[in-house]
Amino acid sequence: MKSDGTLPKIAVHGLTGCAGELLVILENLGTVLPYVQVASFPFAQSKNDIKDVDIAFVEGSVSQEHDIEVLNKIRSHSKWLVAVGNCAVHGCVQSSTCAKFTPQEMVESVYGKDSAIKALEAKPLSSYVEVDVSLSGCPIDKNQFLAVLASLLKDHLPYIIERPVCLECKMRENGCVLIEKNLPCLGPVTAAGCGALCPSFDAACYGCFGPCKDPQLDAMTLILQEKGYNLSDVLVRLGTFGIPEAVLSNLDVRR
Ligand code: SF4
Ligand code: SF4
Repeated sequence: MKSDGTLPKIAVHGLTGCAGELLVILENLGTVLPYVQVASFPFAQSKNDIKDVDIAFVEGSVSQEHDIEVLNKIRSHSKWLVAVGNCAVHGCVQSSTCAKFTPQEMVESVYGKDSAIKALEAKPLSSYVEVDVSLSGCPIDKNQFLAVLASLLKDHLPYIIERPVCLECKMRENGCVLIEKNLPCLGPVTAAGCGALCPSFDAACYGCFGPCKDPQLDAMTLILQEKGYNLSDVLVRLGTFGIPEAVLSNLDVRR
């Protein structure tokens, strides 16, 4: 509760995305409602006001002019802005697709040549505004969302784990599917936060939490090649959830 006796205001908005983060937040509203008032959440309610918001959560990449307008408005009215999900944090699938096709080619392939839609190259929120907290995931993990909210309600920047998925995998005492089963697990270069969900079910991590801090991409690529995966497939796998084409095109393994 704030000093004037009111509850802190939150806003939850989606730009260009699939609403995965909005759904995670919606599912957990019951837990957070005793502590906040939801000033704006167009996905879930009809009366919305983004003025004087304490914490804004924004999902999706910036892919249209309208997204820029909405994002600037949210930023100017919010104390804390949290980018939620890989599209908002890294650009995700939209950005990686933009490395192969122009925005206009993509619009035309879906809506035809006469479409009035003006798409931009998909970019993360941080390309346009200052982002206070980046919470990756596709979708985000609900416990990480609640921890971020709890921390910001106390006016503290949250601690977000920057280590790779392998750390969580080892803490769960999983066998390693990369070593033992030769599966193309991207755990060594992917940000933790999911609790090593996929390797815990004997599946390879495909990188949906985006890159960890300082990912060793050359080493990851070499290991997967040694295991029989071809370079172009490995690069597609690495690029899907947030490692930019510009980074992949400069890897030593490509020289
Ligand atoms: S299974 Fe994947 S995430 Fe787990 S330790 Fe092996 S490489 Fe890392
Ligand atoms: S193990 Fe990898 S693919 Fe699976 S949920 Fe975690 S980050 Fe996503």
